[in-house]
Amino acid sequence: MYRKFTKPTVVISKCLEFDSCRYNGLKISFDPLDLMMPHIDFIPVCPEIEIGLGTPRDPIRIVQKKNLTLVQPSTNKKLTFSMNQFANSFLNNLETVDGFILKAKSPSCGIKDAKYYFKQDKEQSAGKGPGLFTKKVIKVFPGLAIEDEGRLRNFHIREHFFTKLFALSSFRDTKKTKKISSLIKYHANNKFLMMAYNEKTMRKLGKIIASYNKSNLTKVFRAYEKNLQLVFEKPYRRKTNVNVLMHVMGFFSKLLTQKEKKFILHLFKQYSDRRVPLSALIQVIRSWITRYQNSYLENQTYFEPYPFELMDISNSGKGNL
Ligand code: SF4
Repeated sequence: MYRKFTKPTVVISKCLEFDSCRYNGLKISFDPLDLMMPHIDFIPVCPEIEIGLGTPRDPIRIVQKKNLTLVQPSTNKKLTFSMNQFANSFLNNLETVDGFILKAKSPSCGIKDAKYYFKQDKEQSAGKGPGLFTKKVIKVFPGLAIEDEGRLRNFHIREHFFTKLFALSSFRDTKKTKKISSLIKYHANNKFLMMAYNEKTMRKLGKIIASYNKSNLTKVFRAYEKNLQLVFEKPYRRKTNVNVLMHVMGFFSKLLTQKEKKFILHLFKQYSDRRVPLSALIQVIRSWITRYQNSYLENQTYFEPYPFELMDISNSGKGNL
């Protein structure tokens, strides 16, 4: 039961392994990239190079006045207009994109932790927030998979990112068919995955499909896409995963021995207590799906939300199982 995946397209900060374009002429090492390369199409971009700053260059910073302004203190260059202009043009001309991997802490690419200053030439901090390029990314593509390379080192965040990314790229393929039958199939195959994430919105998606008539296909796809992004807005919770897995157990209730049932229930408890990762439970259940040849469960993306090779890079850090 190995899925065929639609390759997602991800915009990535160019200094993450692609080019030595940082202000100091260096690039950042980002180990997971090698494993991601065969499974993801990347579009590398360096917004600071694109607005004409060379490498190496003097640092730039965000000054919080009435609005955020981007400046290069050493040259007194004001860069807000050119950065906004580049971001708008770049983002609006992207034909395909499912997600973004951006460099943490950068005044251009940071997602949550770019430093803001009260003054151009003083060190007093005015807090933190997104960099100027990323601010536009979030505005234009609020529902896509967006993460920074620092957060992606966390097991749970990385798993959520990949799950959302591959669910969205698969939907993109479904949308291309312009067929309601493809959308129905997509919804059916993603049922357990969406249940684990957000059951309420999953049911709303079912109602959107049910509202289809021959004249509103585009509207149905549009509404479905918008709400699908909401399903994956927040990571799944341990409790909802256990609910989904208990539900799946129902398919095997007459097939398993008492010992097998006891074993899996013990594993559920271990998972709830953060002693084993979800993948341990999934592998046991996958073995039963294969053994009992349950084609309905075989098609559920829940059991393989993204390529197995990407699961291999998961290292269970403290508290992240
Ligand atoms: S963080 Fe963004 S702007 Fe800065 S060097 Fe990397 S890609 Fe360029």
